[in-house]
Amino acid sequence: MTDLRDATVLVAGLGVSGVAAARVLLGLGTTVALSDAQERPVVAELTAAGATWLGELSAVPDGTDLVVTSPGWRPDHPLLADAARRGVEVVGEPELAWRLRIAGPDGVPAPWLAVTGTNGKTTTVTMLEAVLLAAGRRAVAAGNVGRPLVEVVTARDPDGTPTFDAIAVELSSFQLHWSSTLAPAAAAVLNVADDHTDWHGSFAAYRDAKARILERTPVAVADAGDPVAAALAAAHPHPVTVTLGEPGPGQLGVRAGDLVDRAFATEPAGEVLLEAGLLQVPGPHNTINALVAAALARAAGVPAEAVGRGLAGFRGGAHRNVRVATVDGVDWVDDSKATNPHAAGASLASYPRVVWIAGGLLKGADVDPLVAAVASRLAGVVLLGRDRDRIAAALARHAPAVPVVTVPSGDDGGMDGTGVTAEATTARVVAAARGLARPGDTVLLAPAAASMDVYRDYAHRGTAFADAVRALG
Ligand code: ADP
Repeated sequence: MTDLRDATVLVAGLGVSGVAAARVLLGLGTTVALSDAQERPVVAELTAAGATWLGELSAVPDGTDLVVTSPGWRPDHPLLADAARRGVEVVGEPELAWRLRIAGPDGVPAPWLAVTGTNGKTTTVTMLEAVLLAAGRRAVAAGNVGRPLVEVVTARDPDGTPTFDAIAVELSSFQLHWSSTLAPAAAAVLNVADDHTDWHGSFAAYRDAKARILERTPVAVADAGDPVAAALAAAHPHPVTVTLGEPGPGQLGVRAGDLVDRAFATEPAGEVLLEAGLLQVPGPHNTINALVAAALARAAGVPAEAVGRGLAGFRGGAHRNVRVATVDGVDWVDDSKATNPHAAGASLASYPRVVWIAGGLLKGADVDPLVAAVASRLAGVVLLGRDRDRIAAALARHAPAVPVVTVPSGDDGGMDGTGVTAEATTARVVAAARGLARPGDTVLLAPAAASMDVYRDYAHRGTAFADAVRALG
């Protein structure tokens, strides 16, 4: 921290985490320079506090000791490539936060309990926060979800004590790529599936970025059912895996309808955490998320009873498998956050007979395996968005008898200026789904794709869907 105070730091990219990093560094008295492609309004506030605005840069200014990069910037960005060439260290905001942690009265900074994975990160981290709070810890969810880490690790109460004594940290593969020394008290890789290979360059590079979360942690948690994540944990000296089946020694799992811990319990038979039926979030994937949150909390010494209480009180996050309404015996579920095929697969596996609403931007992902895996559950499909034809082709191959309705949208509608609003597209999608659904079915918005062809983001897509469903009466 002393060296950072004396350092000259370039903050590259003024998103939420970049701005938070600049503010905290300025508060320490660090010399801060700022770079971004556009001069956002916040630049005025930061320069008034002492930062220097440099505009867009393709080379690192002389005298720079450290670059703090936005997680979205790729390593081949000219500025970052120049830093690499000249040996100037580049870190992400989580790595900066790790170096800035303040100590509590016991002289020790709050432990990080960290989660990464292709899907389920936010759910697991917010479950973990709920469990830690149930245990009476002054916990917060931070990182890729919630507040920036730099803010949380330096927050103090008016009496000077650190505000938080445990931090549930969500880390993306991008943030991990730019991390080098952080050492969580326990860390989990939920799963590793095809996503973001455009950024990382290859699946192997994406997996290796995720694996960094386990490099300096004493406890490595993973879903035993995910082969890539399980292999990463197996390479660690202290692996703990979770399973939907009966847990073996060193595992958390499900036995006779109960979530059971056989990794941290003192009894060899394990300790019951919670009756699985008391979880309020649906689907096997959420049971896995709950078991991973439980493993991390147990690693941090949380008693079984508080784990159970925290998990039972957890109601789920917005646009993540939320039941919007039941109309004429049909359940309508918003899982707009299912933005890749792996997520949509978990979601579809949660319901027996589904009218599936899918489509958007596939980001290069292959939908064929997903469609083949879920074909038997499909009562009908409504397709929208730019890559809808690719899903239609997969359906024709694997589920030729399933009725499919295609709603023009994306490149010929939606937000691209042709005058068709996202809401109008959504109303047509919902009407088509209603036509396909029978009592007992679930209509599931789990698009397996990003939303930005038609909507502002996944939240806009989910809200538009929920509004259209409620309008059905
Ligand atoms: P992330 O923060 O990693 O994007 P979220 O918790 O927001 O993950 O969940 C995103 C979506 O991923 C959910 O809406 C659901 O469709 C799916 N999902 C959640 N947990 C899992 C899991 N453990 N395995 C596979 N898919 C999951």
